Amino acid sequence: MSVKVYIPTPFRALTGGQSRVETEAGDVKGLLGDLEARFPGMRDRLRDEQGVLHQFINVYVNSEEISALDGEATALKGGDDVSIIPAVAGGSAFTIEEVKRYSRHFLLQDVGPSGQRKLKNARVLLIGAGGLGSPAGLYLAAAGVGTLGLIDFDVVDHSNLQRQVLHFTDRVGDLKVESAKQTIGMLNPNVKVEAHNAILDSSNAFELFREYDYVLNGVDNFPARYLANDAAVLLGKTLIDGGINQFEGQVTVYKPGHGCYRCLYPAPPPPGAVPSCAEAGVLGVLPGIVGSMQALETIKQILGIGDPLVGRLLLFDALSMEFRTLKLRRDKGCPVCGDHPTITELIDYHEFCGAPIPAELADQRDRVAVH
Ligand SMILES: [Zn+2]
Repeated sequence: MSVKVYIPTPFRALTGGQSRVETEAGDVKGLLGDLEARFPGMRDRLRDEQGVLHQFINVYVNSEEISALDGEATALKGGDDVSIIPAVAGGSAFTIEEVKRYSRHFLLQDVGPSGQRKLKNARVLLIGAGGLGSPAGLYLAAAGVGTLGLIDFDVVDHSNLQRQVLHFTDRVGDLKVESAKQTIGMLNPNVKVEAHNAILDSSNAFELFREYDYVLNGVDNFPARYLANDAAVLLGKTLIDGGINQFEGQVTVYKPGHGCYRCLYPAPPPPGAVPSCAEAGVLGVLPGIVGSMQALETIKQILGIGDPLVGRLLLFDALSMEFRTLKLRRDKGCPVCGDHPTITELIDYHEFCGAPIPAELADQRDRVAVH
């Protein structure tokens, strides 16, 4: 009857670096006794001189803290997951509610309590509480990103409900940032939402971006797209970019020094050259997929895990269900991130919308090669 035990980072020096140990025990007392016997020094970490479990040590069996069960007498059965979670100095220890909520993260070797703390301390700005911002905001909040900034100037419209899943029918007419704040609060009250009911423009972009570690771009128009790009480049912020058009989506991560949107499209097309948002339309599920991938890339950035979409543009065709990855290189001649930039301050373009279709990228840009 084998039980897995999660060993917290500070205790791994005792287990030879192992984050997970298997043991045979019928109850928690037996399990802790086994660890104490196998790993010298473990007993002092777990118990005081009287042999009582330290108050700053919590033991969870399948996401329930043992004090809510039968204490050390809590019975174990094969396949149970046991986690030993010490309180953490610095006042950012998790509440029991948080430990339960994030238990599936705690079980992941690449996340665990230290990764969860990184998420909790992270500050992410979402530009737009619409099609992309909705799934991204929901998943970032659910994952425990501690502070989410939201900027949007719009109110909820009936036509938004087909894809903007932060909003509900009874919120039509409400400010999107307020509706989003309400929904996120219902999902995860541990998340602090900072609502900015404003249009992103040259007067507020720098001030806003400075307040956050990462910026997730969920805009649907060129003026905001160029503005967000330029502000991120000029401030050295990582921008997790996403775009959708009818049945196609694209995702990439613009990291300082690794290229930007203007490396691909140095200047916006003239108004009228691309379909307007209203004419173009979008399949309702598509932003859900693209925005979720943006949330995933944001979490990978925060945790520093995996292979990020830096220098790569992911294209998704919803109709053929195909993903393609194109290489994206920094252009030395880029007007904002190149060797001799000509754009050194923010520009407010006139309002128009639509997005270049991804296929053009592959065919017309020699600096973008099929991966
Ligand atoms: Zn660039």
